[in-house]
Amino acid sequence: MAGKYVLGYSAETVSEPILWKLTKDYDIRVNILRAEISPGQEGNLLVELDAESEAKLNAALQWLETIGVTWVNVAKRLSWDEDRCIDCGGCSGVCFSGAITLDRSNWKLVVDRDKCIACGGCVKACPMGCFTLDFGE
Ligand code: SF4
Ligand code: SF4
Repeated sequence: MAGKYVLGYSAETVSEPILWKLTKDYDIRVNILRAEISPGQEGNLLVELDAESEAKLNAALQWLETIGVTWVNVAKRLSWDEDRCIDCGGCSGVCFSGAITLDRSNWKLVVDRDKCIACGGCVKACPMGCFTLDFGE
């Protein structure tokens, strides 16, 4: 099973080989999608974590917590206010991950949070303010 996560690094943990340990010790396949980290500073890393089982993924996430790396599941952090949406399609044109599409059978917007890579494009593109990305606790 796979999921996209934003990992939050503190200044203390930013230089540790965390992704290597995830692969070697926890048998997790790691795909880095976006990085905002400077050596010696706090930062965020958007990664896809792929594990053979939910148990293995949970063990890895628990280990991250013990070393002070926070994580949030991206799919759970993208909010879409469907009631405000006027189905103009403006957001679907900027979503390159395929998370937002227009259903051509009824011209209604379809949002698949599991495909979101948290680029923020839809948040800026929507004239109605329908999308928010929240990476807080
Ligand atoms: S944040 Fe980016 S990837 Fe996610 S739904 Fe919006 S445009 Fe698509
Ligand atoms: S840009 Fe906003 S209003 Fe237009 S389809 Fe997307 S969510 Fe709906």
